[in-house]
Amino acid sequence: MSTANYIQRVSDYCSQNKLKFTPNRAAVLAILHQHQQALSAYDILAKLQQQQQNTKPPTVYRALDFLLQYHFIQHIESSSRYIIGHQHAPFTPQPLLICTDCKSVTQIGLSESLKIELDQFAGQQGFKLHSQSYEFQGLCSGCQQGQVS
Ligand SMILES: [Zn+2]
Repeated sequence: MSTANYIQRVSDYCSQNKLKFTPNRAAVLAILHQHQQALSAYDILAKLQQQQQNTKPPTVYRALDFLLQYHFIQHIESSSRYIIGHQHAPFTPQPLLICTDCKSVTQIGLSESLKIELDQFAGQQGFKLHSQSYEFQGLCSGCQQGQVS
């Protein structure tokens, strides 16, 4: 999906759900969609400043807060970076496979039964999981091949 189409889709979703999709929020989301990789808030600020020179950090943080709240993007706790989320409604957080070597991030669909099982197991320990922070660390296929040769 092109970035323009994707932004239009999110914009439609926001107007249907009475969410305020401001130009700054759209600009931050477009940057994450174009790059398709995890970016820090600083990376996003630098890219936004190429378009609008006067952009200040709070603008980026406010936009990120909104986009996170509605799961258009995901925050990667282990690297403090942001990545585009699941691109279709319902916008729900996806578990992430994170390569510890090249830092690539892959979103995976976790089956509902596995999510329920995780929740139940955590619940038995009296623990409440934050559903948006399933992060699995390891080596991606490319980096494994690099290690063999
Ligand atoms: Zn890798």
